[in-house]
Amino acid sequence: MKIAVIGGGPGGYIAAIKAAMLGAEVTVIEKHRVGGTCLNVGCIPTKALLASSAMLAGIREAESFGIKIDGNIASDFSAIMARKDKIVDQLIAGIEFLFDKREIQLVNGFGKLVDKNTIEVTKEDGTIEIVNADKIILANGSVPVVPPVFPYDKKVIITSDEVLGLEKQPESLLIIGGGVIGSEIGQFFRTIGTEVTIIERGEHVLSFEDKDVAKQLQRQFKKDKIKVMADVGVDKLEIVDNKAVATLSNGKQITTEMALVAVGRKPNLANSGVQEIGIELTERGKVKVDEYLQTNIEGIYAIGDLIDTAMLAHVASKEGMVAVENAMGASKKVNYAAVPRCVYTEPEVSGVGKTEKQLQAEGVEYHVGQFDFRALGKAQAIGHIQGFVKVMADHDDKIIGASIVGPHATDLLTELSLAVGLGLTVEQVGDIIHAHPSLSEGLMEALHDVHGECCHAAPKLVKA
Ligand code: FAD
Repeated sequence: MKIAVIGGGPGGYIAAIKAAMLGAEVTVIEKHRVGGTCLNVGCIPTKALLASSAMLAGIREAESFGIKIDGNIASDFSAIMARKDKIVDQLIAGIEFLFDKREIQLVNGFGKLVDKNTIEVTKEDGTIEIVNADKIILANGSVPVVPPVFPYDKKVIITSDEVLGLEKQPESLLIIGGGVIGSEIGQFFRTIGTEVTIIERGEHVLSFEDKDVAKQLQRQFKKDKIKVMADVGVDKLEIVDNKAVATLSNGKQITTEMALVAVGRKPNLANSGVQEIGIELTERGKVKVDEYLQTNIEGIYAIGDLIDTAMLAHVASKEGMVAVENAMGASKKVNYAAVPRCVYTEPEVSGVGKTEKQLQAEGVEYHVGQFDFRALGKAQAIGHIQGFVKVMADHDDKIIGASIVGPHATDLLTELSLAVGLGLTVEQVGDIIHAHPSLSEGLMEALHDVHGECCHAAPKLVKA
C-alpha cells in the first residue's frame, strides 16, 4: 500500500515511520525541515533555552548550597542560541536517519491536495512533482495566530517562530498572552536579563489551569521581576521609532524593544487544497475527522494540530500512529482520557484529566487531596520546595484529575497519567510503596490526603 503524509512534524514523521513499520511504501512531503513546529520552533528549542536559563538561575543560587563562585557570571546569548541550534540539528538528523533506514521517501516541497489519491508538490526551484498514494495522512500542523490589526513585521512585532531565531537579545519584551508559550519564553528572557511584561486577558497566566496552580507560577514570576498584567487586553499595537507601543484596554501604554504575540495557533491550511477537494472543517476551522481520524473523504486522514484535539506534540504523534493503523485496515481510537499538559517553567506545572474548575463547571462531585513539596525531605535536599501536588477523585474513588506545580512536575505526572488513563483508584495507587526520599512521595501523600490519611504535615490547601 502507498501512503503519503503531508507534513513532517511529530504527527507526520511518526505516522510515516509507523506506516513503514507496517509494510507500506511511504512518502513524506515537507516544505521545510522534518521535525515540524515541535523540533524547529516549538517544544525542543524552548526547552533547550530554558535549560540554559535554569543553569544560570542554579549558579546564582549556588551560595545557598555552600558553593562559592568567584568572578562574573553572565549569559552569552549567541552561545545559548548556538547550543539550541545544535540540539535541534542533531534531532532532525536523527529523524532523517530513521527515514533513510526505513526507506521512507522525503520530498521537499509544498504539497497541495488535488484529489483523494494525488498530491501536487511544488519544490523550491519551482518544479512540480506529482505524488500518488492509496491513502493520505494530512499532518500540516499549525501556525501562530496574529490579529490582522497588529503590524506583524517579524522584527519588532514577532511570534514564537521569530523569537526562537533572534540574533540579539532584546532589552525589553512585551508578551501578549500568558499561556504556555508566553510563560516559558517570558521566563527564559527574564532570567538572562531582558525586561519582560506579560499581558494576559484572563484572570491569571495559564488560564486553563486552576487558579491555585497558576498563582504559584505567578509568585515565582514576581520574584523574577516579570511584570504580569492580568484581566487586560491589548487594544492597539503599533511600531513607533522601531519600538513596539501597546495600548492596553485599561488605557495604559507600554513601549518595548519587541512585542511577542502569543495568543494561540491556527491550522496551517493556506493553499493546502483541503477545502478545494471538499474536506469538511469544524466550526473552529479545524479539519473534521471521525473517531478513527478519517476525514469525510474516504482514505484521507488528518492528525495533530490540524484537528480539534489538544495542540500538543505527544497528541499529534499518537494520532499519527492510530491514523496509519486505521488507513491500513485497523479500527482504532485514540484514548484522550489522559492527555498530559506540561509547562517547563520554574516551577514546572503539569496536569492530567480534569481540573477543579472543570469539575465545578460540570457539577461533578469530587474529593481532593493535596500535599506541599516543602514538607518532603527530597524537596528540601534539592532546594526546590515551592508548589504542591493535587489529586481529584470521584465518588467511586477513581482518580479523575491531577495537577502538579513544583520540581520535576512534568516528569512526575506520568504516574498520575497512568492512573487517570487506566481508571485506577486513589486506594490502588496510594497503596503502592513510593521511594524515599523522592519527589514522588508528594504524589503518595496527596493521594493519602484524599481520604484524610496523610501522615506527614497537616495537608493545608495553598491559598491562591
Ligand atoms: P507541526 O509540528 O506544525 O508540523 C507540521 C509540518 O507540516 C511542518 O513541518 C510544516 O512545514 C509542514 N507543512 C505544512 N503544510 C505543508 C504543505 N502544504 N506541504 C508540505 N509541508 C507542509 N507541544 C508539546 O507537546 N510540548 C511542548 O513543550 C510544546 N512546546 C511548544 C512551544 C512552542 C513555542 C510552540 C509554538 C509549540 C509547542 N508545542 C508543544 C506544540 C507542538 O509543537 C505542536 O502541537 C506539534 O508540533 C504539532 O505537531 P503536528 O505534526 O501536528 O504539526
